[in-house]
Amino acid sequence: MVTTSSGHLLFSMQTLRIFVTHNASLITNNSNNILSSPIEYLKGVGPLRADMLKKELGIFTFNDLLEHFPHRHIDKTKVSAISDITPQTEFIQVAGTLMSYEIVGEKRSKRLVAQLADKTGKLELAWFQGIQWVQKGLHIGANYLVFGRTTFFNGKPQIVHPEMEIINPELAEVKNFLEPVYPTTEKLKAKGLNGRQIGKLTFTLLSQLTAKDIEENLPADILQKLKLIKRYEAYRSVHFPQSIAEHEAALKRLKFEELFIAQVRMNLIRLQRHKVSRGAIFEKVGNYFNDFYNHHLPFQLTNAQKRVIKEIRTDTARGHQMNRLLQGDVGSGKTIVALLSMLLAADNGYQSCLMAPTEILARQHFYSLSELLKEMNVEIRLLTGSTKTAERKEILKGLLDDTIHFVVGTHAIIEEIVQFKNLGLAIVDEQHRFGVAQRAALWKKGNTPPHILVMTATPIPRTLAMTAYGDLDYSVIDELPPGRHPINTVHRNEHARAKVMDFVKTEIEKGRQVYFIYPLIEESEKMSYEDLMQGYEQVKSFFPEPKYKISMVHGRMTAEQKDTNMQRFVHGDTQIMVGTTVIEVGVNVPNASVMVIESSEKFGLSQLHQLRGRVGRGSEKSFCILLTGSKVSVEAKERIKIMCATNDGFRIAEKDLELRGPGDIEGTRQSGALNFKLASIINDKELLSVAKHEAEKLMDEDADLIMAKNLQLKQYLQSQKGKTGWSKIS
Ligand code: ADP
Ligand code: MG
Repeated sequence: MVTTSSGHLLFSMQTLRIFVTHNASLITNNSNNILSSPIEYLKGVGPLRADMLKKELGIFTFNDLLEHFPHRHIDKTKVSAISDITPQTEFIQVAGTLMSYEIVGEKRSKRLVAQLADKTGKLELAWFQGIQWVQKGLHIGANYLVFGRTTFFNGKPQIVHPEMEIINPELAEVKNFLEPVYPTTEKLKAKGLNGRQIGKLTFTLLSQLTAKDIEENLPADILQKLKLIKRYEAYRSVHFPQSIAEHEAALKRLKFEELFIAQVRMNLIRLQRHKVSRGAIFEKVGNYFNDFYNHHLPFQLTNAQKRVIKEIRTDTARGHQMNRLLQGDVGSGKTIVALLSMLLAADNGYQSCLMAPTEILARQHFYSLSELLKEMNVEIRLLTGSTKTAERKEILKGLLDDTIHFVVGTHAIIEEIVQFKNLGLAIVDEQHRFGVAQRAALWKKGNTPPHILVMTATPIPRTLAMTAYGDLDYSVIDELPPGRHPINTVHRNEHARAKVMDFVKTEIEKGRQVYFIYPLIEESEKMSYEDLMQGYEQVKSFFPEPKYKISMVHGRMTAEQKDTNMQRFVHGDTQIMVGTTVIEVGVNVPNASVMVIESSEKFGLSQLHQLRGRVGRGSEKSFCILLTGSKVSVEAKERIKIMCATNDGFRIAEKDLELRGPGDIEGTRQSGALNFKLASIINDKELLSVAKHEAEKLMDEDADLIMAKNLQLKQYLQSQKGKTGWSKIS
């Protein structure tokens, strides 16, 4: 390790290795838990810095520091000629002789300026701060290695506040390494812990660690097969690589480890749940199911629907609790799958509930299920916030004495109030993740915990589903019912409004219905409420009564008002529905063929896709018109472009993930499964599927991790228990 003239530190793998062998004998007796040592015990840290590291970066232990990875490396392997510098050059490293230096300017413009020269030209170096201190380290005639961001000043190249060190012929190998730069904060910088200085601490730490302290945790056969380097080596090279290739090998190994361990963990949670959970046993397919299937099913099921029903049947027959996520694009026909599952429950003497996020959707489910079941002897009821007291009492009683088979309602109502005699299946529509607490609320209601089926139409990219929901059982309807036309989506500017309205008119004349959607992000937001009202007036001016009839639905209405308006539209009494995103989820009016989305630049991708899914449900050609103002951000343009280019929910979801990152995707924010330090489910898709594959293979082979080759993995998982979801096994 070399302290340079500018006070910076220089490391090389060579010195690190010397350090390691040197110190090895001192620490061989140290047990594994040197890594759990408090950070203040590290040389160069001390109580003050320790405090800062804890507060600013969450670094409490040696291990935390070890896992504080550099976000980049400065490539010290490349020494350029000064004449190579062009106005396009960003960073450069040159080697030259210090020719002169002087202090110029007064007060605030006072600066230290030095001239460096190599065989090809001259470069100016300048400092505005710490002038006296820097000056002490400058020696005219000495050779320096200089690194920094280049600028042009008066047409001449310059580096302000360069990093520099004297070139010492004995340290020739110094040129051959990549220096790590770490994430840090302004406060830490002020205390002398900038992105490079943290490297000094990491260096000290690594010089104290041996291979014993960073034990291998992956099975040897996997390492071999995937050509992954050992764990200890990887940790060293991820911080202090000797070459770019070495850094890449380290990254690959550590990313794989993260993804693989996460996959193993989720597999274990799932298997464990299968093992220990009790669940209602739906052992037979009986009259309810068969009667409906043979006589009342209004269409042929798609193959995907059939497959999912089979998955649910197998899963509910085994005696463990099903915990299944059903994913299917808008309009893929999840409702019928829900109904068939409920009939299966009824065949086995169990009650079912279907929960929706909004009252509108709950009502709609109730109406469509009632319609499908009208010739069958099944008791189905609707329970929402606006159910009248007398009726509510009656429903609660019916659920307790088992005279009601199915109840449809909003989440809150069913979770909070309802007691079932014999709840066997709880279906949650349009919600990604049905929380542990919510699940628990239902458990108390029955003797055995009900099977849970969570349905979502917001397609989740495969990689995200694998990581965020890997502990759930998972079904996909990846096929739309036959005869659907893709929705024609176009982007129109505000100026084209009159034309858009003309187009809408011709569609209405053909007997179609139309949605106008306004962005009401917060239902309570006064501004957007006024926007909506203005929009309503505007629509009315284009479509005057009595020729045209308009429904409106928004969050400030009572449930009853919403329902009345919704029903008028559903029954075709009105041709136009003006609304907010309350109609986003699940609403099904097959005769509606045009969706106009106002200020569409304000919507997110998955929301746009959801909204668009309200049309294209019938046999008619459907249209989605994305209106925007004339000023649209680059991101919004990108979203609109994607919407116009594809109808495929999964492709849209992938794009959404790329644009927003996993943390922002709805419902995944709290998912610890996504807290990878190095791996990214966007950029490391391939590695993720390899990790998934290997984890599954391992589970098939040795789910209890008793084989010798898996022992170190088992020990590692156990040592990590506190940090994992293992405690959450229910
Ligand atoms: P989502 O998956 O969005 O909840 P729905 O269950 O509301 O979709 O179904 C959308 C529409 O497709 C409904 O009108 C439904 O009756 C119809 N549908 C569902 N499955 C089929 C099928 N196999 N064949 C034809 N139409 C179907
Ligand atoms: Mg639905």
